[in-house]
Amino acid sequence: MSETKPNIPKTKHQKYLTLSGLEPLVVTPESNFINVGERTNVTGSRKFLRLIKEEKFDEALSVARDQVEGGAQILDVNMDEGMLDGKYAMVKFLNLIASEPDIARIPLMIDSSKWDIIEAGLQVAQGKCVVNSISLKEGEQEFKRQAKLVKRYGAAVIVMAFDEKGQADTYQRRIEICKRSYDILVHEIHFPAQDIIFDPNIFPVATGMDEHRLNALDFFNATKWIRENLPHANVSGGVSNVSFSFRGNNTVREAINASFLYHAIQHGMNLGIVNPTMLEVYDEIPKDLLQHVEDVLFNRRDDATQRLLDFAETVKGDKKEDATKVLEWRNEALQNRITHSLVKGIDKFIIEDVEEARLAATKPIEVIEDNLMTGMNVVGDLFGSGKMFLPQVVKSARVMKKAVAYLQPFIEAGKHGKQEFSGKILMATVKGDVHDIGKNIVSVVLGCNNYEIIDLGVMVPPEKIIETAIKENVDVIGLSGLITPSLDEMVYVSQEMEKKNLNIPLIIGGATTSRAHTSVKIAPKYNNTVVHINDASRAVTVVGNLLQKNNKIYKAQIREEYDKFRTQFLKRGKQKDYISIDDARKNKFKIDWSTSEIVKPKKLGIQIIDDFNITALEPFIDWSPFFRSWDLHGKYPDILTDEVVGTQAQELFKDAQELLKRIFDEKLLKAKAVFGLFPANTINDDDIEIVLSPQAESRDHIEDKRVTFLTLRQQLSKREGVPNLALSDFVAPKQSGVRDYMGAFCVSTGFGTAALAKQFETNHDDYNAIMIKALADRLAEAFAEYLHKEVRTKFWGYASEENLTNDDLIKESYKGIRPAPGYPACPDHLEKKTIWKLLNVEKNIGVILTDSLAMWPAASVSGYYFGQTEAKYFGLGKISEDQLKDYAKRRRISEDEARKWLNPNLAET
Ligand code: SAH
Repeated sequence: MSETKPNIPKTKHQKYLTLSGLEPLVVTPESNFINVGERTNVTGSRKFLRLIKEEKFDEALSVARDQVEGGAQILDVNMDEGMLDGKYAMVKFLNLIASEPDIARIPLMIDSSKWDIIEAGLQVAQGKCVVNSISLKEGEQEFKRQAKLVKRYGAAVIVMAFDEKGQADTYQRRIEICKRSYDILVHEIHFPAQDIIFDPNIFPVATGMDEHRLNALDFFNATKWIRENLPHANVSGGVSNVSFSFRGNNTVREAINASFLYHAIQHGMNLGIVNPTMLEVYDEIPKDLLQHVEDVLFNRRDDATQRLLDFAETVKGDKKEDATKVLEWRNEALQNRITHSLVKGIDKFIIEDVEEARLAATKPIEVIEDNLMTGMNVVGDLFGSGKMFLPQVVKSARVMKKAVAYLQPFIEAGKHGKQEFSGKILMATVKGDVHDIGKNIVSVVLGCNNYEIIDLGVMVPPEKIIETAIKENVDVIGLSGLITPSLDEMVYVSQEMEKKNLNIPLIIGGATTSRAHTSVKIAPKYNNTVVHINDASRAVTVVGNLLQKNNKIYKAQIREEYDKFRTQFLKRGKQKDYISIDDARKNKFKIDWSTSEIVKPKKLGIQIIDDFNITALEPFIDWSPFFRSWDLHGKYPDILTDEVVGTQAQELFKDAQELLKRIFDEKLLKAKAVFGLFPANTINDDDIEIVLSPQAESRDHIEDKRVTFLTLRQQLSKREGVPNLALSDFVAPKQSGVRDYMGAFCVSTGFGTAALAKQFETNHDDYNAIMIKALADRLAEAFAEYLHKEVRTKFWGYASEENLTNDDLIKESYKGIRPAPGYPACPDHLEKKTIWKLLNVEKNIGVILTDSLAMWPAASVSGYYFGQTEAKYFGLGKISEDQLKDYAKRRRISEDEARKWLNPNLAET
C-alpha cells in the first residue's frame, strides 16, 4: 500500500506542529501517530460526565491520569453538556490539572462547540494547547475572529471541514473547504501553517446507504491531498466513528477501526482520537475478515457491504484459538521454522533447526548470514512498523544468540571467515551513571539488526569511550544516561571527542536526554552528526541511515534540522513569567502553625534494616512502571486485558512472576534500608535545619549534629491565591517556636542484581538480564512504599489507624509525602549528599553515590519524609537566575557549580 503514501513536499524550511504541556511534543514526520486521549469528554464518557456533575474532581483527575498513563499524548477536555456550567467546569478542571505535574506533562486539547468555553479554557491553560475546533460554519468573519484569537493565545487549532452549507461529505467538498480555510488562515491572518490540524470528517461505512459508500475512501484521499497541497498542515480525525454501524460486534468493529487507522496513517493522518480498547492489531486481523473490511473501506465491490454483513454474522462472539494449530509450524520448511522461532522467541527447537541448516550449508557461517538473518530481518521489519513489541524482540534476540553461540565453535574450527556485520556500535552509560536498562534494550535491538555491539557497561569514563572507539574502529557511539547530571557528562564527552578529532556519529539516549538538550548543548560541541533517539525502535532506522553508503544527505539533513531546532529554541519568546525569588517567598504556602497538629515521632533517630525479608514486598509492587520499562504502556492490571498490548503484557507478566518466584525462593537479592526521624525546623524561608536527636544511636558521624536541607522554590508567576511552593513550607519555621519533625530514608534491593544479570548475559539471555534489573527496580520502589507505611503508622505514628489498599498506596493517597532528590519537587541531586550525611548511608547499608550522584546499586530509592497533613507532591518548574545565585550562596559553591547541578531547571537555558 506504500504507493498511496502522500508525497509530502519537503519545503526548504520544514515546520512542525509543536505543542506543550510541561513537556514539549513535536510532531515530526518521524513521530509515530499522535494519539489524543478522549475519556475526559463529557459527551463521550458517561462516567466522566457523572464525576463532573457531582463535582468529584479528584476522581475526574484520575480519569485524566489514567489517560496519560495509558499513553495518551494529548488530552482532550470537553465540558459541553446542557446541564453543566461548561465555562466553570472547564476552568476549574484545567486549573486542577495544572497542579498535577504527571497530567500537565502532556498538551491539552480544549474541546467545545461554544467559543466562550474555549476562550475561558485558553485563558487558564499553560503550555501550548490545541483548540478543538473552529470552522467556516458561521461564515468567514466569525472564522477569522476566532482564528485571530487562537493565534493570539498561541494555540494550535483543529479546523473542521465544515462551511456555511454544512459538513463536507465528499472528496471535492473536503478539499475545497480545507483549501479555503487554509488560504484564509495562512494568507490573510498569517496563522502558522504548522499549527493547523484539519479534521476532514470520519463518517460510518457499511451503513447500507449508497451515499455512504465512499466515506472512508474520500477521507483517505482528502487526507493525502491536504498533506501534499497544504504545506505544513496536519490531519486528524476521530476513528471509532467509522465502524459505528457495527455496534455490538466488537470483532468486526475492531477490525474496521484498525484497518481504517492503518490506511489513514498511510495516507498522511498524523494525529487522531483512537480508543485503544477498540482496536485490533492490523496484522492479526484474520485475512478473510480483512479482505471484507477493506472491500468496504475502498469501495471495491458493489456488494461489499452485504458481504461484510454476512461475514460479520459468522464472527460474532469471541475469537477462538485453535490448540492443534500450535505445532503445525514444525512441519514447515526449514527456513520458515527458523523464522518462526525467531519471530515468536521460541528457543525450544532452534538448536535442532540450526544444526539441520548447518549440515545443509557449505560453511557454518552461512547459517548466520542466510537463515538466521532472514528471520531477524522479518523481526526487524515487524518491529520497525510497530507490529511487534519490545519484549518480543528481546526474546527473539535470545533465540538468535543461542543459535550463534551454538554455531561459533564450528565457525572457528573451520576458519571459514567471520560473521559479516552491518556495522560496529559502541554503547556506554556515561561516567557517574549506573542505569542501563534502556541502553541494554537498544543494544539488543541493534544486535538483532546485525550490528556488532561493543557494550562498555555503566559508569564509563570518557577516556575509555574514546580509546575503545579508536581501537575498535567503531561506526557509531551511543551514550546513555538517566539522571540529569549525566547530561553535563555527555556534553563533556562530546567535547573530548572533538579534541581527539574523532569522526564518528554520536547517538544520545536516556530518560532525561532530549532533542532540546542534544541540539543546544551537545551538537555544537562536536563536529559530526549527533542524533537524539528516544526509543529503541527508532535506533534501528537512525543507525541504518547513518551507516548507509551515501549518508551525506542524511547527515546534512540531521545537521540542518538540529541547527534549526537550536536556533528556534534559543530565540523562542519568553513563554512564561517568572517572579523574583523574594516575591516567590512572600507568596509561600502558609500553614497556621499555632493550630496545626504536630505529632512527635514515636521513635527518633536512625534505624537500620540489614536483611529484610524481600517476599513481604510483593503486595507493594506497582506494576505499571514495569510494563513501561518494556515499552508497553498502560495501567496495571487493565493492561493485561488491553486489546492492543494485552497478550504481550500477559506473557511478560508471566515471565516476570517466574523470575520473581526464583528471586524469593533462592533469595537472589538482598534488601537493606536505613531511615531516621529527627527534630527539624525551617530557617531563612527555604532551608530546613535537621537536628540529629540525642536519642540517635550512631550520631558520631556528624560533628555539628545538624544538617541543612536546601529546598528550591517555584518561581512561575501564579494566579491570585495560588502559592509558590517549596518543600520547606511544610515544616514549621524556627521563629514560630513550634518543634517540628521530618525524616529521611534510603532503601536498596539491588545487592546481587549486577552479578545475576551478568550470569544471564553469559548464558546469552539478555531477556532475563534486563528482567532482573527491571524487577529489582520494582522491589526497591515497593520497599520505599512499605517502609513509608511503617513510618507513618508505627515509627512516626501520626497515621496509626491508616487503612489503605495497595491501590491507594500507588495513588499516594496517604498523609505526608516522601519526596526524592532528582524528582520534580527537589530536582537538586546534591540533596542526596545531605541524606547520606544524615543517615550515614554508605557505612550503614553500603549504598554509594557516584560522581554524578547516582545511587549504586541502581535499584535504590532515597528521599525525605514530611508528615504535615498539607504536604503534597508538586513540580518545581524552572527557576530564575536570582534563585540560582541565592542557592549558590546558601550551598557555598560557585555559581558555575550551581548551574551544573540545576542546569536543566533554569528558566533561561
Ligand atoms: N509507585 C511508583 C512511584 C514512582 S515515583 C513506582 O513504583 O515506580 C518515585 C518516588 O518519587 C515517589 O515515591 C516519591 O518518593 C517521589 N516523588 C513523586 N513525586 C515527587 C515530586 N513531585 N517531588 C519529589 N519526589 C517525588
